Amino acid sequence: MTVKVFIPTALRQYADNTNTIELGGDTVGEVLSNLAEKFPTLKTHLFTDDGALRNFVNVYVKDENIRALNFNETVVAEGDEITLVPAVAGGTGILDISAEGVELSNDEIERFSRHLILPEVGMEGQKKLKASSVLLIGTGGLGSPLALYLAAAGVGRLGLVDFDVVDKSNLQRQIIHTTADVGRPKIESAKESILALNPHVQVDTYEAGFTSENAMEIAKDYDIIIDGTDNFPTRYLVNDVCVLLKKPNVYGSIFRFEGQASVFYAEKGPCYRCLYPEPPPPGMVPSCAEGGVLGILPGLVGLIQATEGIKILLGEGEPLLGRLMLINSLAMTFRELKLRKDPSCPICGDNPTITELIDYQEFCGIPQAQEAEAAKMQNGTITAPEVKARLDKGDDFILVDVREQHEYDICRIEGSVLIPLSEIDSRLGELEKDTDIVVHCKMGGRSANAQAMLQEVGYTSVLNMEGGIMAWSDLVDSSVPKY
Ligand code: ZN
Repeated sequence: MTVKVFIPTALRQYADNTNTIELGGDTVGEVLSNLAEKFPTLKTHLFTDDGALRNFVNVYVKDENIRALNFNETVVAEGDEITLVPAVAGGTGILDISAEGVELSNDEIERFSRHLILPEVGMEGQKKLKASSVLLIGTGGLGSPLALYLAAAGVGRLGLVDFDVVDKSNLQRQIIHTTADVGRPKIESAKESILALNPHVQVDTYEAGFTSENAMEIAKDYDIIIDGTDNFPTRYLVNDVCVLLKKPNVYGSIFRFEGQASVFYAEKGPCYRCLYPEPPPPGMVPSCAEGGVLGILPGLVGLIQATEGIKILLGEGEPLLGRLMLINSLAMTFRELKLRKDPSCPICGDNPTITELIDYQEFCGIPQAQEAEAAKMQNGTITAPEVKARLDKGDDFILVDVREQHEYDICRIEGSVLIPLSEIDSRLGELEKDTDIVVHCKMGGRSANAQAMLQEVGYTSVLNMEGGIMAWSDLVDSSVPKY
C-alpha cells in the first residue's frame, strides 16, 4: 500500500522541510517505521528509545485519532492519509509574520546568538522578529520593560505613543528613563534608551495622546498593539482600535500590588469589552498616582506582556488568549481564569453596536474639562496662595486634610486637621456646621468628593483647595515635598 503522510510545521525541520511524503506499508506501524528510517532525526522526536510514540504526538488516520490503537495491527488502505499532530507545538500561532526578504547582518547574528540556537526561534524566528512591528501605548511603568525587552529581543520596529514628560516620581518604576531625563518628553528619553541598547531597531515616536482622532491612523501599520495605559478611556480606545483593525491587543494593568494580563484578539477569542463591558464609575478605582503602585510590579506585568508579544510574533507556544492572568505580588500567586467571547459584546459580538471609534471620555463618564470646571466653580474653590493668606491673617476657618495617615506622614500643611475621606462620615461631630471649612487632598480630586459630601449633609461654607498639597508645594512652600 502507498499512503500519504502529513508532517506538521513544528516537525518539518527534522524531515528536510518535507510537508507531505508518500510511503509504503500495510499497517500504521510499518508506515511510521519507514518514515523514521527516512528521517533519523525525526525518529528521535517521534519515538522514545524503546520505540513507543512520544506523549506529545498524536497520529490521525483519515482524521481519526488512533493513539489508543496498536499501530502494528492498524491496517491502512491504498491512498489513506496519515497526519502527525504534536500536542503542544505548532498550530497555535495567531499571526503569521512573513520574514521573506529579511536578512540578518553578522552583527545581528552575534547579538542574537542565544536566540538563534533555540530551535523555537532560530534564524527563521529571528528574521520574523526583525520583520515585525509593535505599537506601545504609553512609555511608563509597563511601557519601560516592554520597550527595552522587545528592543533587546530584536523586534524590527517599535512605535511609541506618549505625550507626557518624565517626572521624578516616575523613576521608581519607569526604568527606561533616568534621573537626567526628568523634564524631557518620555518618548525622546525612551527612544534614546532603546537605540543605546539595540541600534538596529526602527523607533517611531508619536508625541500625542492616543485619541479617537489619531488612533486608527497610528495603529494601522503595526502587527500587534501592546496596551501600557493607565486610564480607562485609553484602554477602551485601544481595545476598540484593535477589534476594528483586527489586531491582537496584549493587555496588562497594575494597581498597588496586583496586576492583570491577557491577550485580546477578537478574531480568535474574547476582547477587553467581553471581559469588562463597562468601565467603573469615575473615582471608584483610584489611579496609581492616587492609590500608589509597587515599583517592581509593572516590571513583572510588563514582562508577561513582552513575552506574549514575542510568542505571538514568532508563532510559538500558547498565547494568553481567552485566559486572564491575575498576579498578586504580595502573595506571589499567579492565578488564571478562563475568558469566553461574549456573543452580546457591543464590538466583537454577533450584533455589534460599536462600528467606529466613539468618545471615550464620555463613555467612561469623565466630564469634559469645561463641565468639570463649571462643577468645581459651583461648589466653590480656593487657591493655595489664598489659603496661605487666610492662614497668615488668622482667619477663623478649619483646614481639613482628607488624605490618608501615611500621606500625612510624608508632608502636611501646618495648622491642618487630618480627617481621611473614608472617615468623614463618622467624624462629622468634630466639624461645626456653621464654621468655614477648606478641604484639601493630594491633587484636589478626593477633596472635591469630601466637599460634596459635606455640602450634602448641610455644611454651608466648604471650599476645595485647587490642586491639593501638590499645588501648595508649587505655589506656596517649595520645602513641602511632592510625592
Ligand atoms: Zn468583545
